[in-house]
Amino acid sequence: MEFRDLKKQYQVLKTDMDKAMTDVATSGAFIMGEPVKMLEQELANYVGVKHCISCANGTDALTLALKTLGIGKGDVVFVPDFTFFSTAEVVALEGALPVFVDVDPDTFNMDPSSLAEAIECVRDDMSLRAKAVIAVDLFGMPANYAEIRKVAKQHDLYIIEDGAQGFGGWTDYDVSNSGVVTPCPKGKRACSFGDISTTSFFPAKPLGCYGDGGAVFTNNDEWADYIRSLRVHGKGSNKYDNVRIGLNSRLDTMQAAILRVKLKAFIDHELADVNRAAEYYTQLITGTLRFSKKEIQITAPTLPKGYGSSWAQYTVRLSVPSGNGTFNREALQAKMKAKGIPTMVYYPIPMSYQTAFRGLRRFVLTPHAENLSKSVLSLPMHPYITREEIRYVVESLVNSI
Ligand SMILES: *Cc1c(COP(=O)(O)O)cnc(C)c1O
Repeated sequence: MEFRDLKKQYQVLKTDMDKAMTDVATSGAFIMGEPVKMLEQELANYVGVKHCISCANGTDALTLALKTLGIGKGDVVFVPDFTFFSTAEVVALEGALPVFVDVDPDTFNMDPSSLAEAIECVRDDMSLRAKAVIAVDLFGMPANYAEIRKVAKQHDLYIIEDGAQGFGGWTDYDVSNSGVVTPCPKGKRACSFGDISTTSFFPAKPLGCYGDGGAVFTNNDEWADYIRSLRVHGKGSNKYDNVRIGLNSRLDTMQAAILRVKLKAFIDHELADVNRAAEYYTQLITGTLRFSKKEIQITAPTLPKGYGSSWAQYTVRLSVPSGNGTFNREALQAKMKAKGIPTMVYYPIPMSYQTAFRGLRRFVLTPHAENLSKSVLSLPMHPYITREEIRYVVESLVNSI
């Protein structure tokens, strides 16, 4: 069994995919060819944002966002303590200070009250300027932007949405820039919640290409122009007229063509398929709990009312209900592996404990992030997983603990 079965996906999409790739090879337009523009338009339409600017990867997308907001030395950017390294790495790379905020133990996403607390602590230090929040849509579900926007508004902070895992997730409410929450009958999609939002097309993400890729989303015309310049060496009227220091961060035409085929499948059926798979997982896990007298409790991931996920990961929590007992997660993974089931731990180390961030000042405690890093386990998940496979994973998990 594959953790994320990209080979099966290719077999299903093969006819369209082979044609798309051959067309690019035939055209010879490998850099900024027509498919790049078409993909950007399709992504902007789907997400519901005015501008989509594609780039080389999800990490560059975040860097482009930070540079556009003028974030650098002396600035503070709040990031969740439980995320992939990039989210905080890009802040430090710009010379700014990442301040780690705790997450909600049930949604895994940034806890708005911990954010408020961290902002207060930072305000006490006159040498620091709080500038922005990077909220992450972890494992496919949008962060709590209704609350995060309220807090950010009070303190005049920009919101960057790290939607690397969030693409396809949604909420059925809208958060306007005033921080007012209104019902949104058609839903509002991930990558539309930030002042600037970003995503990644790394192969294992909800919408992945056949290599590296990423995109930035914004409704702001001026910022969009600035990002288009930054991604091609800070170009002015053309790429040999350089008006600022930028990056070489374009999305290859080949990747754009691949993504156009994948986006269509994603919209047509993959997002629905992955949601059906998640529902079946949750149904089996909550069902087995009632009958299991095991020492270790398995908790299925929760989707709060009004939220939709693209299930970048299906992540359960393992806990010992009696309290002080511990369990060996690695041994459990080894047992699963022996049964042919790959599992992953996203993420084993909170940001604030990463070696690269050793010595950084901590402003708030992050007990939930610490706890999750010890208790999470991600199970095989993708649009092509079968009900039989899901049943086998859950049975094996219950029998292995
Ligand atoms: C994958 C990921 C990134 C980085 O994306 P790349 O395309 O690999 O650079 C950033 N943030 C989060 C939360 C991610 O999962």
